[in-house]
Amino acid sequence: MAEIIDGKKIASQLDDRTKTQVDEMIAAGMERPGLAVILVGADPASQVYVGRKIKACEKVGINSSEYRLPAETSQDELLALIARLNADPSVHGILCQVPLPRQIDTQKVLLAIDPAKDVDGFHPVNAGLLFTGSRGLVACTPSGVIELLKSVVPDPTGLDALVIGRSNIVGKPVAILLLNEGCTVTVSHSKTRDLPEKARRADIIVAASGIPEMVKGDWVKPGAVLLDVGISRVPGASGKDRLVGDIAFDEVQHARAVTPVPGGVGPMTIACLLANTVQAAKAQADDAATTN
Ligand code: NAD
Repeated sequence: MAEIIDGKKIASQLDDRTKTQVDEMIAAGMERPGLAVILVGADPASQVYVGRKIKACEKVGINSSEYRLPAETSQDELLALIARLNADPSVHGILCQVPLPRQIDTQKVLLAIDPAKDVDGFHPVNAGLLFTGSRGLVACTPSGVIELLKSVVPDPTGLDALVIGRSNIVGKPVAILLLNEGCTVTVSHSKTRDLPEKARRADIIVAASGIPEMVKGDWVKPGAVLLDVGISRVPGASGKDRLVGDIAFDEVQHARAVTPVPGGVGPMTIACLLANTVQAAKAQADDAATTN
């Protein structure tokens, strides 16, 4: 029987460590970390995600400020808000929930966020720091994936890893993190040939294609560790939708361990966001101390 990696429990342990760090900062007379969350428009899924992030901040003692802007907000208005938050010393992290409405260039907005406050880790400066093996702010879902992997395999050095998906926010950063952990990494994507064959050779599979249950049981080598990033809504037997991942969960009992959907990678993403906010607040306090 494959071990089910409990993302909720591991995320809660990370939250406890984050809360301890916040308490230590306050005890040392430092400012409480602050996260600004921007939501443009009323996309229902985005509203749920933003609500969860704000609530999670409260739990660990991070100050949160929420900016809900109408769907017709112009790019200039959004950039002006980001400039204001970049200059506000009480804001240590800025998160702009995507997707953004069509009139706004997402790339321009992500580039406008001060890399020191880019707690999503999407800015090219942070992506570049990751690429060169330095410690910038790492994208939340990828760092959550590595944390879950290490709960099962503390030292993955030398293992063969297959990443399914090459997006800038999941596939590519996960691949670099695995490389930095000493894995031999194959990155696959929509044009990859013979994917099942490649999967069968992998000790670790990170699935991030967004294709429901694409990784079948016979793609998986006995003893492999499976990390499922995908989340898709599919019609359930009762007529109600259910959430599934990219891995056919019921077919992979011969794996060593697998993350469930929901309750696997998802909870880690928010826990890593909070950890990034504290990391950013500490780095900004250090910078202020050296420039004063
Ligand atoms: P994306 O659509 O940007 O990227 C999907 C990737 O899958 C692409 O690189 C594409 O080349 C690849 N792909 C498509 N078909 C393929 C195939 N047949 N074989 C191999 N690769 C294929 O998506 P994304 O933003 O990277 O997200 C991927 C999934 O992860 C989605 O289901 C998303 O909802 C989920 N996600 C979850 C979290 C979380 O917190 N759990 C966070 C981010 C994304």
